[in-house]
Amino acid sequence: MSQQPEQPSVRRIVLPSGRSIEVVRWGEQSHTHRGLHMCPDCGSGLVQPIDWSEAPEDCWNLLLNCPNCDWYTEGLYNADQVRELEDRLDEGLADMLRDLQRLTQANMADQIDRFVNALYADQILPEDF
Ligand SMILES: [Zn+2]
Repeated sequence: MSQQPEQPSVRRIVLPSGRSIEVVRWGEQSHTHRGLHMCPDCGSGLVQPIDWSEAPEDCWNLLLNCPNCDWYTEGLYNADQVRELEDRLDEGLADMLRDLQRLTQANMADQIDRFVNALYADQILPEDF
């Protein structure tokens, strides 16, 4: 098996919209291994699609951005790659919702503590309601 670094192939494709894009293809292994959510510049796993459109042959044209280092790329990706990116985005959303729930609970616990302390200190009066 060859250990030489893979060279990307670059070709230009004209989309049905008339827009022309440059497609950079790396070997299947490095593509699959890295995943579209990983930034090749800074290594962040937060790369996300900014814009997308359907392309021929069950592919999608994606404009990807890394919010960590502001890296951008545009390319044509197959359905499996896009599905994997969607799974990663779903996981990221689930993580954010869990964090939001924890934060909301922490804030509510803090408010309840303050309310109880104010009650004991006679700082809450009937006219407050
Ligand atoms: Zn980055």
